[in-house]
Amino acid sequence: MRLKKLLKKINQLKDEKKGLTDSQLQFQTIKLREMIERKEKEENIVVEAFSSIREANSRVLGLFPTDEQVLGGLAIYYGKIAEIKTGEGKSLVATFPLYLKALYLGTVFLVTTNDYLARRDYDRVGKVYQWMGLSIADGTNPQEDEVEGHEFDFKKKKATYASEIIYISNTTLGFDYLINLLAENQETKFMSSLHFALLDEVDQILLDSAQQPLIISGGDKVQSNYYQVSSDFVQLLQKNQHFKMSEEQDSVWFTEEGIEKAKWYFSLPSLLDDAYFLLYQHLVLALKARYLLKKNRDYIIERGKVKLLDRRDGRILEGNKMQSGLHQSIEAKEGVAITPETNTISSITYQNLFRRFEQLSGMSGTAKVAEDEFINTYNLKVVSIKTHKKNIRKDYHSKTYISFESKLEATLEKVYELYEKKRPILLITGSVDISELFSMYLLSLGIPHNVLNAKSSVKEALIIEEAGRLGAVTIATAMAGRGTDIKLSKAAQEAGGLAVIVTERMMNKRFEIQAKGRAGRQGEPGNTYSFESLEDDVIRLYMQNDIQKYYDKHRQKSSQIKNIRIKKSFSLAQKISEERAYSQRINALKFDNVSILQKSKFDEARSEVLALNSTSQAISLIWNNAQPTIDHFLNKGKITPESLYRFILDYLDYNYQLSDRDFDALENPRAFLKTIFEESIERQKHRVNDETLFLQFLKSGMIKAIDFCWSSQIEVLNQLQAVVNSRSAAQKRPIIEFNKEAQKSYDNQRNEISKLMLKNTLLGRMQIKKGKVLLTLP
Ligand code: ADP
Ligand code: MG
Repeated sequence: MRLKKLLKKINQLKDEKKGLTDSQLQFQTIKLREMIERKEKEENIVVEAFSSIREANSRVLGLFPTDEQVLGGLAIYYGKIAEIKTGEGKSLVATFPLYLKALYLGTVFLVTTNDYLARRDYDRVGKVYQWMGLSIADGTNPQEDEVEGHEFDFKKKKATYASEIIYISNTTLGFDYLINLLAENQETKFMSSLHFALLDEVDQILLDSAQQPLIISGGDKVQSNYYQVSSDFVQLLQKNQHFKMSEEQDSVWFTEEGIEKAKWYFSLPSLLDDAYFLLYQHLVLALKARYLLKKNRDYIIERGKVKLLDRRDGRILEGNKMQSGLHQSIEAKEGVAITPETNTISSITYQNLFRRFEQLSGMSGTAKVAEDEFINTYNLKVVSIKTHKKNIRKDYHSKTYISFESKLEATLEKVYELYEKKRPILLITGSVDISELFSMYLLSLGIPHNVLNAKSSVKEALIIEEAGRLGAVTIATAMAGRGTDIKLSKAAQEAGGLAVIVTERMMNKRFEIQAKGRAGRQGEPGNTYSFESLEDDVIRLYMQNDIQKYYDKHRQKSSQIKNIRIKKSFSLAQKISEERAYSQRINALKFDNVSILQKSKFDEARSEVLALNSTSQAISLIWNNAQPTIDHFLNKGKITPESLYRFILDYLDYNYQLSDRDFDALENPRAFLKTIFEESIERQKHRVNDETLFLQFLKSGMIKAIDFCWSSQIEVLNQLQAVVNSRSAAQKRPIIEFNKEAQKSYDNQRNEISKLMLKNTLLGRMQIKKGKVLLTLP
């Protein structure tokens, strides 16, 4: 294998590099830059670079990277995902590919799942690159209690993105990306091209968080007063009679009878008529908020505010709002103050963001089981790297029960038994509410413990670090604390190491592997236990018919089930759940593709404006863009002096006075409008009386027109996606329908841009402050 051969060559250089003085070793960077400049054979460069950075790690950090770490680095360098188990030292592995990719490409990223981890790894290994003469940046945002409301520091961002190696979280990178796209001029652009990113915990970012949208919003919308009435109404409904739902498809819809009831309740002749579309939308949202979303699973209420949760790890989704309006519907349901609804200005999903990179690679303790999807969606293969020391962890077979209660009892017994032996215990649950339930029971058993869930995410790393002490008991949701190492004390090792107890069959096998992987790291002792019941979510949702019968018949049985068929049904249900999630991601990608394509056209229009460098160019661009609006007016029907007058007031000049020449204009209205356009522009120019500032003004008016329309378009696409998805249960090909509607709306927005450009530049007013133009929109 090629990687092994390279490793051998790297090992041969071990002593040579050890023999170098510090400054000779540091000089390797300059030497490598020259080799790259001369386009020397890549393989030779890889061998030189990897053996140099390996020795640098040893000198700067006192840690000499193992052969396995070098292999992992090679796999990543060559564009693969490296599966490297927890605790094997992925932070160190990253230094290899990042060092060399930075030399080749200029700017590279290490992206991980939160700012805490990004900063920690920057502190941990950043020194190594620095010592070798590369510029690095901690790309995380300043720590603040309130995420909202801190100033965006363009200067700092510029410095960050000018660095060669950037440590950052997926969220921060995503928001930076959106903000950069919205720049109104070259000075506030700070991001350069996206060449290469190494994603740590890659499965979490590219799979589990793939569809999560990052949203920049602003400008309060006109507030609808439908939230409360809709919420009140849906409380009166009966499941299956007035509405139906499918939890596994995450959707809920009205029946005929439900629609009738709404018509009666609101005294409407029809609900599906366009005139009542807004109300109908609110009713669907209220239905979803009331019956599909659960408190403490999908959201929590903290100090009177609704905060959304990531279902898998119970973490709060900061700054993330759901589909517009759903947040408000939950607020109405819970009876807390309804926050103002804002317009989405820009948004992107993670899967979309990372597909922008020219080169992508990743690492994680759990990637192999998802290799098919990584290959199909991202063209990334997975290479499994052996652990440095032999893994001696023992995984016990899962114990299966019928009811939740009997499973709970058996689980608590196991906890008690291990607790008496003072084994450190990590209890993994599938959701926040179950973790609280366990906490309650442990409390009543007198077992002191920590709970790791959304409500304590600040202390997350601290708690996890302590989880390896003698007698420590920690309850966590599946993915919480990921990335933080659980270090065992000596006494805890002697007591048998960490015991991981998985308390339910998870929605994805990967989550279980991840949880179990926390025990027995770096060849330490440890073992894992699993408990499951026919009432676990994944079984409840995807149970086969024959199992349902078995369940109904044996419901009262409290002992363990050994029936092979039943045991197999768990794996089957889990498979179905995994495939569901996968196909949802594929669908989301298809929706995304449409919006990417449309967005790129908006971006082209934007770049065209940003590139303008004379007012005459700008004016002719506005006139060109105005043609659809003018055509529409001229073709609409008979032109009268009144209609002409109205059009001029609306689009060209709101101080226009009717005069004799208007009657002559009926001969050639297009030429006449052009004259008015030119006169009006000329007047605007006089008001500013400065060529540069006037250009700025025109550009700003055009950019605002484009951004405003894109913002409306996103809203439309989001709503469409939701509507099409909820219909898809009964209907044909959702994506085809989506494409058709999306195109229609896109064409409308283009016409809207044409109008707005005219209005903003001809009817807008400007103020000049400190040499900058401020535009007041009409
Ligand atoms: P992972 O991300 O793979 O779970 P980390 O990068 O957090 O692992 O590292 C886990 C621990 O292993 C850290 O405390 C780190 O210092 C240690 N470590 C990593 N590489 C080495 C090495 N080559 N020699 C000794 N200790 C190492
Ligand atoms: Mg790690």
